[in-house]
Amino acid sequence: MRVRVDFDSCDSNGLCAAEAPTVFEVRDDDFLYVLQENPPQELWPEVTRAANACPKFAITLEER
Ligand code: SF4
Repeated sequence: MRVRVDFDSCDSNGLCAAEAPTVFEVRDDDFLYVLQENPPQELWPEVTRAANACPKFAITLEER
């Protein structure tokens, strides 16, 4: 799985980071960072929850 974020849509509310903190992080500069673009399979459930939690539909999960 590859994680894509539409940073133009993201408003850095951190909801994805709350679901998957080892994959998404909102830093002090108020930007979202993707820590793992290709998260291991054990993280897929929480990454999926993070994508579903995004109110801006900014997170896309691509099959690889
Ligand atoms: S949940 Fe969506 S809008 Fe919020 S920080 Fe994550 S990608 Fe950005």
